[in-house]
Amino acid sequence: MERCRLWGHAWYPYDAEPARGGWKDVLSCERCTTRRAFIIDRNGFVVSKAYDYVDGYRDATHTYDSKQERRAAYYASELREKLAEQDELKERRSRRKAS
Ligand SMILES: [Zn+2]
Repeated sequence: MERCRLWGHAWYPYDAEPARGGWKDVLSCERCTTRRAFIIDRNGFVVSKAYDYVDGYRDATHTYDSKQERRAAYYASELREKLAEQDELKERRSRRKAS
């Protein structure tokens, strides 16, 4: 969900059916399952759009003051994990050498 907030959703075609004399086209996000539905008229113009967010998606959107802060928080935690993994690897290697 956090990745979608940062990068946008990863849409794929989910469903399509006739609607209101035109067409209803539904996309779904492969990460968070948010759905986006378009009603498209006979000439191909979008006449309405609707989003169906996954639970909790919108609640947390105001946790950060800015997109930069959100991004920084995300990468800081990702990097912390990666750096911890690397440290562990290094330690394991040096332990192996020592024995
Ligand atoms: Zn998403």
